[in-house]
Amino acid sequence: MKSISKAALYAVIVSCIFHLEVKPVYAASSDAEDISRLPYILSAVLILVVFTLIFHFYINYLKKKLLLEQDFSKNIISNIKTMIIVCDLDGKVVMFNKFAQEISGYSLEEAKGKKVFEIPFLNEGTDLGKRIYDSIMADKLLENYEACLTARNKKPIYTLWNMDAVKDAQGVSVNMVVMGIDITGRKSVEQKLTESYRELEQTHEELVATEEELKEQYDDLNKRDIELRHSEERYRLAVEGVNDGIWDWDGKEGKLFMSKRCRLIMGFDNDSEAITIDKWFGTVLREDMDRFVKGFNKYITEPQDKHFQIEYRIRTADDRIKWIRTRGMAIWDGSGIPIRVAGSNTDITEQKVSDEKIHQLAYYDSMTGLPNRALLTDRFIIAAANAQRKGWMVAVFFIDLDNFKTINDTIGHSFGDELLFRVGEQLKLKMRRSDTIARLGGDEFIILQANVKDINEVNLLAERMLALFKEPWVLDEREFYVTASIGISVYPNNGLDLQELMKNADAAMYKAKETGKNNYKIFTQELNSRMMERLAIENYLRKATEKNEFVLFYQPQVELSTGRITSMEALIRWLSPNIGWISPDAFIFIAEEIGVINVIGEWVLRSACTQLARWHEEGFDDLKISVNLSARQFQQLNLVELINNIIEETGIKAQWLELEITESIAMQDLEHTISVLQSIKDIGISVSLDDFGKGYSSLNYLKLLPINNLKIDKTFVHDITTNVNQAKIAKALIALAHNMELTVTAEGVEVPEQLEFLKKEKCDIVQGFLFSKPMSANELEPAKKYQDDLQQALQ
Ligand code: C2E
Ligand code: MG
Ligand code: MG
Repeated sequence: MKSISKAALYAVIVSCIFHLEVKPVYAASSDAEDISRLPYILSAVLILVVFTLIFHFYINYLKKKLLLEQDFSKNIISNIKTMIIVCDLDGKVVMFNKFAQEISGYSLEEAKGKKVFEIPFLNEGTDLGKRIYDSIMADKLLENYEACLTARNKKPIYTLWNMDAVKDAQGVSVNMVVMGIDITGRKSVEQKLTESYRELEQTHEELVATEEELKEQYDDLNKRDIELRHSEERYRLAVEGVNDGIWDWDGKEGKLFMSKRCRLIMGFDNDSEAITIDKWFGTVLREDMDRFVKGFNKYITEPQDKHFQIEYRIRTADDRIKWIRTRGMAIWDGSGIPIRVAGSNTDITEQKVSDEKIHQLAYYDSMTGLPNRALLTDRFIIAAANAQRKGWMVAVFFIDLDNFKTINDTIGHSFGDELLFRVGEQLKLKMRRSDTIARLGGDEFIILQANVKDINEVNLLAERMLALFKEPWVLDEREFYVTASIGISVYPNNGLDLQELMKNADAAMYKAKETGKNNYKIFTQELNSRMMERLAIENYLRKATEKNEFVLFYQPQVELSTGRITSMEALIRWLSPNIGWISPDAFIFIAEEIGVINVIGEWVLRSACTQLARWHEEGFDDLKISVNLSARQFQQLNLVELINNIIEETGIKAQWLELEITESIAMQDLEHTISVLQSIKDIGISVSLDDFGKGYSSLNYLKLLPINNLKIDKTFVHDITTNVNQAKIAKALIALAHNMELTVTAEGVEVPEQLEFLKKEKCDIVQGFLFSKPMSANELEPAKKYQDDLQQALQ
C-alpha cells in the first residue's frame, strides 16, 4: 500500500513537471496556443487535487489500518495465554505481558526496567532468569527450556520457555522476546502418567513376580506330576514286576484288588470274574483253614505287630497244591473295624520244599531216611524228660552189623546201602511209634525205646530185633546172612545224657560182639571197666609216638623160584610200659579212630626206609622193604609228597620200596585210589594189594587198580591144603594174577604142604611162620644167617 501511495505521489509530481516543461516548446508558436493550453493547466491542477485527495485518504486509511493492526497485536499480546517478556539487549525487561503478570503475580511495573534475573518470579528456586540473561549476552537463543517457577502466591508453576530475537529492517537484533507457556497442567498429567506408569510398572513387576511364582508353582506342579507319574509307574511296575502278588481289600466297598501276579500265584489268572475275598479263602486247604482264619482274626482283633503273616496251602483251580505266604497290614476305623487290609501273597512252595529238604538233611540220614544224631538228641531230651516225670526209663540200643563191612567192600557200596536201608526199615517195624530209630553213619543204628516201665520190655525188643537177623536178606536175588550185635544202656541207670548212654551202649555192643555174633548185652558196671581200659589205651596211644614206644618187626618175603629173601615186610609193635606188647590188630584201628595214625604211619615209613638203607649199606643191596598203609593214611592229601621226602631223606631208591594197601582201602574211593596209586607207581614204588581173598574180593576192580602184586590172605592160604574148593580158587587166582602181569605173594604159609601147593601153582613169593616170624631188626642180625636158614627150609 505504501508503495502504491508513493507511486501516486510521484506520478502527480511528474505529470505537473511534464506540463510545465513542455510549455516553452509550444509558447513560441502562438497566443491562440496560450488560450488553448489553459484546459490543460486546469486539468493538471484538477488531477493534482484529485491525487492529493486520494493520497490524503489513502494516508488516513493506512493510519487507521496501522492502528487497527497495532491494537490487534496489543490485543493478541495481552490476551495470549503465553507469558511474553521482551528484553533489550542489556537484558532489561521492556515488556512483561498480561498473562505473565497473571501467572506470576508480579505487575509490569515490578518487572519493567529490571534486569531479567532480578525478577523474583524468574529467579527463586530456578536459574531461568540467569539463563535468559546469559543467552542474551551471548547472542544465543534459549530453546524448550523447562523450569518450575514459584508465583508470588508460592504456587509452583511448570513452564516451558523459548526465545527469539526482534530484528530491525537490516536484520540486526534490537530486542529479545522470551515466551513461556504454562505446562503445569501437562506436568501434572505427566506426573500422573508417571505415577500411573510407576504403578503400572509396579503392578507389572508384581505381575511378573506373580507370574514367576506361578511359573515356579507350575514347574513344581509339573515336576510333582512327573514324579507322581513316575511313582505311579514305579508302583505299577513294582506291583506287576515283583515276585510277590499284591492285594488290597476295601472293607467299605467289600472289594478286593489283586495284581496280575497275585492272580497268577493264586491260580486265578484265567479267571475273568472279579476275585472276591470268599473266592480267595475258598482256595485254602481245609487242614490249614483254621490256622489261616485264626492268624488273621488274631491280628484284626488284637494286633501285636504292625503286620500279620500267615503261611498256608491252597488248592488252585488246576488242582495244584501251593504254599502261600500272606503278609498284610490293616487300617481300622474309630470303632475298631478294619476298613482296609492290603498286603502281598508269595508263592513259597519251592522254599517250603527246600526247607523240607534242609530239614530232612539236618535231621535225617540221607541214605536210609531215618532220623540222624540231631533228631535223635531232640527226641531223647523229650523222652528223658517224660521218663523223669513218670519215673520210667529210656533204653538206648546201639546196633552194629557184624559182617557189614565185608559185604560192603566186596559186593559193592550200592548193595551195602540197600542193605542198610532194608535193615532200617525192618527194625522200624519192630518198634512202637514212640520209639525212634536213627542211623549215625556206617552200619551203626541207634534205637531209642521210650516209656520203658520194666527192663523186660528192653529184652523183648532186643530179641525181636535179633530175630530179624536170623533170616537171610535177599538183595537182587542174592541171599546174605547178616548178623547184628546190640549193646543197650538205660536212662537214668547208665547215664543221664545221650552221649554217655551211647558210649555205654557202644561198650555193651563190643561186649556182645566178643561174646559171639547176633547177640545183645545190656550195659553193666563191669562193662564200664572194659570201656575204661579202652580209654586208657587211647590215652597211652596218644603219647606212644612221643615216648618212642613203637618198634618195627620185619618178616621176610621169600622168592619161591630162587629161595632168596627179596623183601622184608615191616610190621609195627607197640611196647607199652603200662600194658606190655600190643599187636597192630589191637591198636591200629584205635589209632585211626583217635586220629594219630598219620603220625604213626610216618614214623613206620621213615624207620623202615632207614632200616633198609642200613641193610643196603651192609651189602644186602637187592633187598626190598614192604610197608603197610592204613586206610586213613591213604586219605592223607600229601601222602605222595611225604613218601617222596622220606625216600630222599633216607637215601633209598624208590624201586626198593613196596607199599601194601588192603582191599577195603582200595575200594573206598576207587577213583582216588587209582590216582594215588598211579602217582606212587610213577615214582617207581611198587604196590601190593594186601589181604586179598579175605572178603568177597572183586576181580572186576582188580584190573582197574595200578598194582604190581597180589597178596593172598593168610586165612585163604590156611585152607588150601584142606579145602578142595579153596585150592581150586587159589590156583585160578594165581593164574589170573599172572595173566594180569601181577606177581603173587602168599602170606601165612605155616606148613610145608602149603608151600608145596604154592610152588606147584607157581606162586611167586611166600611169607609165613614156616620161614620166619616177624622179628626185630636186631634179632634178624645177621640177616645172612636167615638167608641160609631159609634156603635150607626150602630144600
Ligand atoms: P598184614 O599186613 O596182613 O600182615 C601180616 C600179618 O600176618 C602179621 O600180623 C603177621 O605177623 C602175620 N603173619 C605172618 N605170617 C604168619 C603165619 O604164618 N601165620 C599167622 N597166623 N600169621 C602170620 P601182625 O604183625 O599182627 O599185623 C597185623 C596187621 O596189622 C597187618 O596185617 C597189617 O594189616 C597191620 N599192620 C602191621 N603193621 C602195620 C603198620 O606199620 N601200619 C599199618 N597201617 N598196619 C600195620
Ligand atoms: Mg601187610
Ligand atoms: Mg595181610
